[in-house]
Amino acid sequence: MRAAVLREVPGRVEIEEISIDQPGPGEVLIRTAAAGVCHSDLHVLTGDLPIALPLVPGHESSGTVEAVGENVHSLKPGDPVVTCCSVFCGHCEWCLTGRAYGCTNDESPRDKETHPRLSVGSEAIGQFFDVSSFAEQLLVPERGAVKIRPEMPLDKAALLGCGVLTGMGAVFNTAAVTPGSTVAVVGVGGVGLSAIQGARIAGARRIFAVDLVPDKLDLAMYFGATDAVDASRVDPVEAIVDMTEGGVDFAFEFIGLAKTVRQMFDMTRRSGTATVVGVMPSDATLEMTAADFISGKRFQSSLMGGGSFYVEVPRYVDFYLNGMLKLDEMISATLPLERVMDAFEAMKAGTVARSMLVFEP
Ligand SMILES: [Zn+2]
Ligand SMILES: [Zn+2]
Repeated sequence: MRAAVLREVPGRVEIEEISIDQPGPGEVLIRTAAAGVCHSDLHVLTGDLPIALPLVPGHESSGTVEAVGENVHSLKPGDPVVTCCSVFCGHCEWCLTGRAYGCTNDESPRDKETHPRLSVGSEAIGQFFDVSSFAEQLLVPERGAVKIRPEMPLDKAALLGCGVLTGMGAVFNTAAVTPGSTVAVVGVGGVGLSAIQGARIAGARRIFAVDLVPDKLDLAMYFGATDAVDASRVDPVEAIVDMTEGGVDFAFEFIGLAKTVRQMFDMTRRSGTATVVGVMPSDATLEMTAADFISGKRFQSSLMGGGSFYVEVPRYVDFYLNGMLKLDEMISATLPLERVMDAFEAMKAGTVARSMLVFEP
């Protein structure tokens, strides 16, 4: 099969013909339908997210099950699925308390050294968090893919596996936005737009979108923001504190910069909740004074939506099919696998909400 392989960082992926193994116990083989290009993939190409090479990036995908290994009970050939990189075991404390995103049990019986899922001749090709969706087929653990309703268009469904799960989950699970509250979302790319939709669905009465790109702010208004704050023209903290008489109940940061995290914290009202979702460089430092903490604010981070994709992805499919969740307009470009580097260039330029790679059925 064809796949986009990364062999050095910083670097670019090249399309190669590679081999994919048959599904072993607890694994499923999937024909890829669509794969979103996420910022985490860009972090892999730049080397900011260190990972063993060579590797096939990509982790936000959908497809149709082609074959299943032994001991697979939830999926069968023909099932439409969404993949997720937070594979879970199903029986640890994290899994049993509704936080499967935190599960770290890798119970795969496969010896990935001697029997890699992906390879070229005798050379093993690594997977990106057990997914690797920039490829025509996926070989993933059963608990890395969830079955969805067949009415769901697969190109839209792919968005649910990372960006939408991360953005809406931060709103619903990590922050638990309440009806009638005020919300600010700093950075309205694909994940931030999902948070805006989550805040709208949760019943927030006022939703501030903060960004530097006017086109993204227009999109944010379309997806449910009530106010657009152009941070290239005004100080977003001053503007929001002013419009809300002291700050918002819930603020979120989706960029991953210390400066914008600080802004997000400062636009949160006393006793409000400030949630970081953007991925900061691991050595970034945040400065806080004691006075900041006397304010009673809650300051937290959110990882993969803070919930369980197995439960949430099918709910989000219902949201889409009921007209509550808008996904079509989140896909700003659809491209074939060969043009994956164009998607990264567009992401670096900051011009697109989400590029989606689509595959021939
Ligand atoms: Zn992602
Ligand atoms: Zn677990």
